[in-house]
Amino acid sequence: MLETSEIETFDATAVNSARTRQPLYAARKKVFPKRASGQFRRFKWLVMLVTLGIYYVTPWLRWDRGPHAPDQAVLVDLASRRFYFFPIEIWPQEFYFVAGLLCMAGFGLFLVTSVVGRAWCGYTCPQTVWVDLFLVIERAVEGDRNARIKLDGAPWSAGKLFKRITKHAIWLAIAVATGGAWIFYFADAPTLLRDLFTGQAAPVSYFTVAILTATTYVFGGLMREQVCTYMCPWPRIQAAMLDEHSLTVTYNDWRGEPRSRHAKKAAAAGKPVGDCVDCNACVVVCPMGIDIRDGQQLECITCALCIDACNGVMDKLGRERGLISYATLADYNANMALATGDGAHDIRPSLVRDASGRISDAISTFHLGKLFRPRTFIYFGGWALVGVLLIYGLLTRDRLEMNVLHDRNPQYVVLSDGSIRNGYTVKLLNKIPEQRTVTVSLDELPGATMNVVGLDHEESSTITVTLEPDRARSLKVYVRQPREGAKSPGKAQRLVFHVEDKSSLDSADYVTSFESPE
Ligand code: SF4
Ligand code: SF4
Repeated sequence: MLETSEIETFDATAVNSARTRQPLYAARKKVFPKRASGQFRRFKWLVMLVTLGIYYVTPWLRWDRGPHAPDQAVLVDLASRRFYFFPIEIWPQEFYFVAGLLCMAGFGLFLVTSVVGRAWCGYTCPQTVWVDLFLVIERAVEGDRNARIKLDGAPWSAGKLFKRITKHAIWLAIAVATGGAWIFYFADAPTLLRDLFTGQAAPVSYFTVAILTATTYVFGGLMREQVCTYMCPWPRIQAAMLDEHSLTVTYNDWRGEPRSRHAKKAAAAGKPVGDCVDCNACVVVCPMGIDIRDGQQLECITCALCIDACNGVMDKLGRERGLISYATLADYNANMALATGDGAHDIRPSLVRDASGRISDAISTFHLGKLFRPRTFIYFGGWALVGVLLIYGLLTRDRLEMNVLHDRNPQYVVLSDGSIRNGYTVKLLNKIPEQRTVTVSLDELPGATMNVVGLDHEESSTITVTLEPDRARSLKVYVRQPREGAKSPGKAQRLVFHVEDKSSLDSADYVTSFESPE
């Protein structure tokens, strides 16, 4: 077990400290985050691997939909106006499914934020993930924090130039791969990759890759924490979703203060001494350049790397972990009240410890029961409701659809034999990837027969039509009714178009009207 004086201390101040922060824009001070290690860092590595893996690999996954549909598992097919997601195919008129997914994502984000604060920002936001990835490259090429600070301040030399060129070249390669992966979601990935390299891809493909390369390189490599601090609206919005029971990364000053680098001396002098040895380990690992001991700050993305750093220090000192921890405001306030005698005096760390010197059982800590509160129930309820509706909609949606448009000019024509004729445009949608033959029939209009332009058939009340796989077919249909068939001349009569696939039993009806003169 180490003495406090043996703990490595860093000569560092938070470059973005709340104490010295300017209210308006100030030139960026570079942040050189030190490599952290610990349980949260390992979890972040895992999340990074999974999210990057999903992003880069998904366009290359195949899904067999038969010979008439693309075999890319996830594809936004702009040319055919379809969205494919494994076995699910979404047509443009079914865009409400995508809207539903966005609603679920929104409710999910609200739910996660109300429980664990800005976990999205700290672990899964693309900005966080790509900055983390770029930092891995930076450390591999230029070294950890001290080496990078030294290199940054050193005059230009062949070695420095080589390292800088290497770093930026790798960053650019990652940025190009990121932009490239994005466009693979919008076309057959292997074909588009070949076309990109042979110069045969559409100009918009190159343009999109160029834009995304630039944004990835600039946001992930050059701007980093500034994107979160100045550009992203989420830090401002999330405050509305947090309450006093939401978990956030917290410096527990009720046990950390008064901080001291010379705890033994201070204790010998009879001064109260907290657990914080003022080593700045939490400051140097922070990718946002802040000092969590200054309190909750908009800049904190709750990545929890300062927890890892401080836990490492506490381990070395043989003290309890959790000087910096995920904690709720309610627990923090209760513990502060304990340490300050309800605000009667300054923090006395001895008040949160028992007779054996361990952290007292009287302190408030988080437990799972605190998750169950009205706000989380509402968010979870909204999320689950939309999810159930989506699943129900997917399971019961029509695979054969029909739309009918009645000609408006003229509404009817009186033929030479006295019969009345109305024109319609009938659109049939075959939503399965197989060809099928369907019957279209006229219901509820006495004596009605139809004639389809361009189709070789006898005029009758039922016709047979072939539909191509996964396609819509438009028919120009003239419906004729003998004059004596009209029950109430001059009034619109009800007419039902009925389409049916006898092999699959899919069917659809469309109710319209049949006009006739008085
Ligand atoms: S203060 Fe801690 S949790 Fe917040 S951004 Fe910095 S390292 Fe991450
Ligand atoms: S909070 Fe922990 S890591 Fe930060 S300065 Fe104090 S002891 Fe060191």
